[in-house]
Amino acid sequence: MNVHDSEMLAALLKADGWSVVSNPESADVIILNTCSVRDKAEQKVFSRFGILKEVKNSRPDTCFVLAGCMARAWGKTVLKRMPFIDLVVGPGMLHKIPEYLEFPRPSHPVVQIDSSDTVFSVDPELVDIQNRYSAWVTIMEGCDNYCSYCIVPYVRGKERSRPENDIVNEVTALVQKGAREITLLGQNVNSYNGSANGFPELLRKIHAIPGLLRIRFTTSHPKDMSDSLIGTVAELPKVCEYLHFPVQSGSNRILERMNRGYTRENYLNRVSLIKRLMPNVALSSDFMVGFPGETEDDHCDSVNLVESVKYDNIFIFIYNPRTKTRAAGYDDDIPLKVKTQRLEDLLKRQRRISMERNRDLIGSTVEVLVEGPAKRGENLMTGRSRQNRVVNFTGAVKSGELCYVMIESVSPNCLYGCLA
Ligand code: SAM
Ligand code: SF4
Repeated sequence: MNVHDSEMLAALLKADGWSVVSNPESADVIILNTCSVRDKAEQKVFSRFGILKEVKNSRPDTCFVLAGCMARAWGKTVLKRMPFIDLVVGPGMLHKIPEYLEFPRPSHPVVQIDSSDTVFSVDPELVDIQNRYSAWVTIMEGCDNYCSYCIVPYVRGKERSRPENDIVNEVTALVQKGAREITLLGQNVNSYNGSANGFPELLRKIHAIPGLLRIRFTTSHPKDMSDSLIGTVAELPKVCEYLHFPVQSGSNRILERMNRGYTRENYLNRVSLIKRLMPNVALSSDFMVGFPGETEDDHCDSVNLVESVKYDNIFIFIYNPRTKTRAAGYDDDIPLKVKTQRLEDLLKRQRRISMERNRDLIGSTVEVLVEGPAKRGENLMTGRSRQNRVVNFTGAVKSGELCYVMIESVSPNCLYGCLA
């Protein structure tokens, strides 16, 4: 979502006469669009601005902008650590940045972090998707779930959905510009409520757009993954058989402390319906290790879940207390060494499972949306399968087209083959 926000912000600024330069030394404005989900993301911003400060020393008129979630989380207190910042703009105010950059600019730093009620979007005509056949569309913003560890509801604001027609018009315009695949974005797309019948109806409307070949979406919250949604996803051929389905933990005790709103049994019940209706589905997930009070038994529950679901891929995060969240008041009692061991344990198991799942594909044929020449490997083309795996292959096909590739060999992260 942040990458897409940055892309839309760049489009807005270009429409206002700005252009992108290739190095910070020649920039008149430097914007870092930031994430606050983990402390590490924020520390990276402090260190990046620490380096960029040199630019300000040699060209004091360069305007420094801290944008996005970190701006909202820190507000004006960030100026104590980085007094050289000129503009602090929260994620709900990104559309205002071109206005703030107009001359004359105030001589003191400006802080605009109020959350807006709208969802940030720009005219798709402005967005540059050249050489890309896959585009993002934000369908909703914010979150009302208040998982006890998560800062998102405090920085992105209350959940709000874009009207269905706006989304359909945007996807139509992107397809006319060359997009073949659309990824719908939201913190919890399953609870989209911008149309009378929610997300399944939105999927149907988008599915009917001529020229669009594939639909993806992220993120799905397990508590809102209804039978009707799973049925719709299974039924619509353009919707890819790939679901990012974050569980966070395999332990009911921890899930409850996380305020996730489902149990391990509910989650596995959803997974079994998904697998029954979509036998070719690829699942990915987020796991958190070292949540306050997580015992070895709780960790074993997560391990068992990984082993039984057999995800294609998982993203594992070390728990990190975030200000304002409920869990910030819990004792962060798991030593970093134990957190790291648990992360490595899950990672090692998942690597084996990913490799096994990829090996199962040797000899089969997969549909690939061609992106272009592969970065590595002479005469190799690259693209993604419906299950979101990277596929490198030999053969002449134009970028943006669908083709079929026979899989000959695999690595944990990639499939290799030739045109079928
Ligand atoms: N809305 C999505 C969901 O409910 O799964 C996730 C959005 S969150 C921005 C992405 C991931 O960051 C989460 O799934 C979680 O695993 C991780 N995360 C969030 N807060 C965290 C924290 N305090 N410490 C470590 N990881 C965190
Ligand atoms: Fe954060 Fe939970 Fe909302 Fe996801 S659903 S954004 S983890 S509060």
